Amino acid sequence: RQTDEKILSVKGLEVSFDGFKALRNLDFSLDYGELRFLIGPNGAGKTTLLDVICGKVKPSGGQVLFKDHIDLSKHQEHQIAQLGIGRKFQTPTVFSTLTVFENLALSMKQQRGLLSALWAKTTSEQRERLHLRLSMIGLADKANERAGSLSHGEKQWLEIGMLLMQEADLLLLDEPAAGMTDSETEKTGELLHSIAAQQTVIVVEHDMEFVRRYARTVTVLHEGTVLREGTMQDIQQDDKVAEVYLGR
Ligand code: ADP
Repeated sequence: RQTDEKILSVKGLEVSFDGFKALRNLDFSLDYGELRFLIGPNGAGKTTLLDVICGKVKPSGGQVLFKDHIDLSKHQEHQIAQLGIGRKFQTPTVFSTLTVFENLALSMKQQRGLLSALWAKTTSEQRERLHLRLSMIGLADKANERAGSLSHGEKQWLEIGMLLMQEADLLLLDEPAAGMTDSETEKTGELLHSIAAQQTVIVVEHDMEFVRRYARTVTVLHEGTVLREGTMQDIQQDDKVAEVYLGR
């Protein structure tokens, strides 16, 4: 991979819903290994942008390139997941009657189904990967507990672990710390940074305190397009951002 290669490059993106332009002339790009926070007032287009990247919404114009050569607008949602883009919504979707370990094993790419996942058909290389992810998401000591017995925060981490087992290179997370306790929120912030050492992460976030603590680079959307982009410090000092967003 060349050093200037982008994992995601969006140019002139347009999305219309019955004539209403939810996104207009939006440019956005991400380097490999970035942790990018996406903020902006309600209705700014954050969810729509994630929907386009994961293939749920088709653009009416512009270009969305993954790894510089894959045109995402030509792929269906399930193909995009296979290509290595994982989306996590706010509500956890873990299998509550299965254990933490089983949930992760089921998510492994190329896993041929429930039975082989559950009955020891994992190779030692796969088990190694499973244990690596278990400790990364902080659930190593809960591997054999049923997912249904986990706390809200732990379920969210498990779900992030499941995306990582699917070998997602780009993770799209919607308010990953919503509803968490303070200590869970802190662990989530740290988890995002440890993921971004290897994968690339986009986080849509409304909790400005969380953004202030954990964001490196921030993209501010407003009325369907990018208003500003920069470090958290730049964004906090920007008058225009304050005007439309921070309510100063
Ligand atoms: P955000 O996530 O920043 O709050 P959204 O991406 O959800 O913003 O929405 C951007 C705009 O597009 C809003 O005005 C919203 O009402 C509109 N919108 C989103 N999805 C649809 C849809 N399926 N049909 C019609 N309008 C939509």
